[in-house]
Amino acid sequence: MLRLLKTACVGKLSRKIGAQSFSAAALAKPNQNPEVLYTGIFINNEWHKSKSGKTFPTINPATEKTIAEIQEGGKEDIEIAIKAARNAFEMGSPWRRMDASERGELLYCLASLMERDQAYLASLETLDNGKPYTMSYNVDLPMSIKNLRYFAGWADKNHGKTIPMDGPYFNYTRHEPVGVCAQIIPWNFPILMMAWKLGPALATGNTIILKPAEQTSLTALYIAQLVKEAGFPEGVVNVVPGKGPTGAILSNHLDVDKVAFTGSTEVGKLIQQASAQSNLKRVTLELGGKSPNIILADSDMDYAVETSHFGLFFNMGQCCCAGSRTFVEDKIYDEFVERSAERAKKRTVGNPFDSNIEQGPQIDNEQMTKILGLIDTGKKQGAKLVAGGNRYKDMPGYFVEPTVFADVKDDMTIAREEIFGPVQQLIRFKNLDEVIKRANASEYGLAAAVFTKNIDKANYLIQGLRAGTVWVNTYNALAAQSPFGGYKMSGHGRENGEYALQNYTEVKSVIVKVNEKSS
Ligand code: ADP
Repeated sequence: MLRLLKTACVGKLSRKIGAQSFSAAALAKPNQNPEVLYTGIFINNEWHKSKSGKTFPTINPATEKTIAEIQEGGKEDIEIAIKAARNAFEMGSPWRRMDASERGELLYCLASLMERDQAYLASLETLDNGKPYTMSYNVDLPMSIKNLRYFAGWADKNHGKTIPMDGPYFNYTRHEPVGVCAQIIPWNFPILMMAWKLGPALATGNTIILKPAEQTSLTALYIAQLVKEAGFPEGVVNVVPGKGPTGAILSNHLDVDKVAFTGSTEVGKLIQQASAQSNLKRVTLELGGKSPNIILADSDMDYAVETSHFGLFFNMGQCCCAGSRTFVEDKIYDEFVERSAERAKKRTVGNPFDSNIEQGPQIDNEQMTKILGLIDTGKKQGAKLVAGGNRYKDMPGYFVEPTVFADVKDDMTIAREEIFGPVQQLIRFKNLDEVIKRANASEYGLAAAVFTKNIDKANYLIQGLRAGTVWVNTYNALAAQSPFGGYKMSGHGRENGEYALQNYTEVKSVIVKVNEKSS
């Protein structure tokens, strides 16, 4: 059976969408007009229209033009999707009867199909999301593929324990799937967030209803078709596009066992409330951040400026872990400000399909307007604008100038609220205890970074900072093997790595009476 499956997968790998060949090292040519093949609701490995007949547009943020109309999943569609996922989870179903290693094979096959179609998927992602194609192709896709492969490996390794329980008993634990999981994902890394969600959930044997963000449904829908092509049984992965209310139906539903959510803290709270008011479904949340990035005077200035720039401006500043409070030690503050402003002014902004471009548009008009509003607030509250500050008015698309503020004070709105845009805040500090206190004085605790050559200072800061990730002399270093998640209002649960398996398993303690006589 396994050999057959493998052959089937390899056979499928020969077809390349858009006929673009690539090697991992080279950037395959993008397709600026990738054909949109799927816009429907994916249930039981089939495509459906919404029962209500409703659709919603998906917009190219670089041109503000509609790319396609997407079917909007409503209550009836969700009911059908949940039934499909429940049936696929029933004892005796092909998915439940499948060997764990075979689940791993299917995941691995899905990863390989994504690799086969890497240039097409990266083009579609850039079209729908606006991120530079060089990033979609070289970052989002490889990371997603690696993530699925990593979790494919876990499928037959997530074993329980035998426990020396008191009494005449044989006690062991089984790590069983939670059941029907709703996965609600954001628009900033559409494919990657889908991979982070599918990998551990499928490796551990759950079934899924995934809702992509309304701004970026296209790649999730294409990957749904690859799920079918890989050979997953029907009902195991269902993809229901829609807006907030579609997500709310899922998180309030009595027959959903778990919701995994990545998005804003505001919606995260609603999801947790929905769980409390419905069936106490398991909830894991990966929410907002206002991450401190601490630069000590002994760090390498060129490197710290460049890496801090990357830590904030990467993905147009649309990262939950963006280093959006850059604390710079007093002694080097003025020079750091000057160099950061220079660097931001050199940042290349424009058509995201152009390989020289570092920055594309923001995701939509709403986000751009919010960012511009916060820039205005920063100016009004007395922060010093040293780079950018405006929309690019002479071209279509939601483009915002790379913006840097100096003389930012802790109580300013731009130092407290998540901006989720290309706006860097440079804040002055004098000593370690002070900066630890100020860095931690945030409702968030997703990530933090420290730049220094002094190991003792680094260790002191690592211990003091309350964040799920602390980077030292680097930023945005993420990988399938390494856990990622938040303290405080940045959420709970950890994605990636072995820790992510816990999000998708229940522990069953089995106690078997052992007869003390042999007959
Ligand atoms: P952002 O503010 O960055 O757009 P959101 O938290 O609003 O992020 O959205 C993240 C995901 O949550 C999207 O898929 C969105 O459709 C979904 N969503 C929005 N509102 C709700 C809700 N009330 N319940 C469940 N999901 C929601």
